[in-house]
Amino acid sequence: MHTIGHWIDGKVAVGTSGRFGPVYDPARGEQTASVALASSDEVADVVAIAARAAAEWSASSLSARAAALFRFRELLDHHREELASLITAEHGKVLSDAAGEVARGQETVEFACAIPHLLKGSHSTEVSSGVDVHTVLQPLGVVAGITPFNFPVMVPLWMLANAIACGNAFILKPSEKDPSPSLFLAELVQQAGVPDGLFNVVQGDREAVDSLLAHPEVAAVSFVGSTPIARHIYETGTKGGKRVQALGGAKNHMVVLPDADVDAAADAAISAGYGSAGERCMAISVVVAVGSVAEPLVAAIAARIPSVIVGPGTDPSSQMGPLVTAEHRARVLSYVEGSEGEGATLVVDGRGDWPSGFYLGCTLLDHVRPGMKVYDDEIFGPVLGVVRVETYDEAVALVNANPYGNGVAVFTRDGGVARRFQLDVTVGMVGVNVSIPVPVGFHSFGGWKSSLFGDSAIYGPEGIRFYTRPKVVTTRWPDPSTSAIDLGFPQTR
Ligand code: NAD
Repeated sequence: MHTIGHWIDGKVAVGTSGRFGPVYDPARGEQTASVALASSDEVADVVAIAARAAAEWSASSLSARAAALFRFRELLDHHREELASLITAEHGKVLSDAAGEVARGQETVEFACAIPHLLKGSHSTEVSSGVDVHTVLQPLGVVAGITPFNFPVMVPLWMLANAIACGNAFILKPSEKDPSPSLFLAELVQQAGVPDGLFNVVQGDREAVDSLLAHPEVAAVSFVGSTPIARHIYETGTKGGKRVQALGGAKNHMVVLPDADVDAAADAAISAGYGSAGERCMAISVVVAVGSVAEPLVAAIAARIPSVIVGPGTDPSSQMGPLVTAEHRARVLSYVEGSEGEGATLVVDGRGDWPSGFYLGCTLLDHVRPGMKVYDDEIFGPVLGVVRVETYDEAVALVNANPYGNGVAVFTRDGGVARRFQLDVTVGMVGVNVSIPVPVGFHSFGGWKSSLFGDSAIYGPEGIRFYTRPKVVTTRWPDPSTSAIDLGFPQTR
C-alpha cells in the first residue's frame, strides 16, 4: 500500500509526523493508501518556504504570471482524463462527473489568465492642483486554502488560480479523504513554470488546519467545507487578524410551481438530487411541491429512479457511484432509517443489497417537514425529500426560514413569478429552471446565511478582491514656484 505525501518546494515530501490517515477506494470498500498528516512543525516549515517564494513572485511581471496561467490551463485541459481517474479512485464519483469537475475548475484558471486586466487599479489626474491619485492592488503574501472531499480538483482551483495570479504564495490543505489529485495539480503547476515553493500541498487533519490558522505569516484563509468547521475557521482566523472566507454546508430547495413542466422538473430533480450521490454542496436535497403539482411530481420522480444506474465510477455505464467512506454511508443511512419514525413517507428505499463498496441507492421521501432531522440536517447523500406546500408564499417562507442559503431553484413557466422569486429569496445563488446554478468562472460563487462566513464570495471578481489589498497613492511632483508652508488640514484646490 503506498503513502501519499505532501508537495513542498517543488517536490513530494513523505512527511515526518509519523501520523497517517487511511484512503479508500469507495467502489470496492478497501483501503488503497495512507496519507501523511502534517505536524505543526511541518506546517511552519512550509509557511517559511512559501513566504520566501511569495516575496520573489510578487515582483514578477503580470505578463509572466499570465503566461504561466495560460500554460497551466493547457496542461489541465490535456490531463483532464488522468485527473478524473484520480478523483474517481478516491472519491467514487463517476468518471464523466469527475471530468466535468476538472472542466469547471479550469474555468477559474481561464478567468485568472486575464490578470493583467484584472489588476489594473485606477487613476485620477489633478484631484487637486498638481496632485494625482492612483490605486494599486498588492498581494497579501502567504495565503492558505482548506478544501472538502467532494471536489478535490475544482475547489482547490477556485482558490489557487486567483491567489497565484494576484502574486501570492498558496498553501493547499486538501481533504484527507481524497488527497492524490492535489499532488497531480502541483506537478502541473510546476510544469506551467510557476516557481517552486509558490504552491505547496500540506496533507493533514485538524492539526495542520489549526497550525495554518495560528501562523502569523498566513495572511488569509479560504475554506470550503461543512458549516460547523467553517464557523470555527472564520472565528479563529479573524480573531488572529486574518482575512477569512469560509464557505459552509447547504440545504438546497427546488421549488416547483403548479404551472411547471412536470417531466422537465422531475428530470432536473433526479439529476441535481442524485448526481455525485448527492455529495455536492449545490445538490438539490429538498423538492418543494406547490399545490396540485405534488402528486404528479412525486410519481414522476419515483418512476425515474429505477433507471438510474448505480455502480463503480470507472464503469462508463454507471450514472451514480458510491459514497465516499463507510462512515459517511452509515451517517446517511441513519437518516433514511429514522425518516418514517419522524413521519415522512419512504417512497423509494435506496437501501437493499449492494455489492462491497460504500453504495446506497437513490432514496425518495415524501411528506417531509421542518423539524424532522431529514429536513433540518444536511444529509449529503442520495436522499431527496419532498415538502408539500399550498402556495408560493409558503414556499418562499420555507426557503427563507432555512438557516442555509447556498443555492435554490424555481421551476415555472411564469416569468413574472420567477422574477419575483429571485428578489424574494434569502439565498446566494438562484436558478430559474436551472437546478444547479453554480456561477461560471467569471462571476463569483457564494451562499448566504450559514453557507458563507465572511464578506467575500469565492473565485471570479470577488476572488481577486479577496487575494489583494488596495493601496492608494497620492502624488505631487515638486514645483518650487508653488511651494509654501501651510499648517492647515490639506484641502483640494
Ligand atoms: P469538512 O468540513 O468535514 O472538511 C473540510 C476540510 O476541513 C477538510 O480539509 C478537513 O480536513 C478539514 N477539517 C475537518 N474537520 C476539521 C476540524 N475539526 N478542524 C479543522 N479542520 C477540519 O467537509 P467535507 O466532509 O470534506 O465536505 C463536505 C461539506 O463541504 C458539506 O457540508 C458541503 O456542503 C460542504 N461544501 C460546501 C461548498 C460550498 O461552496 N459552500 C462546496 C463544497 C462542499
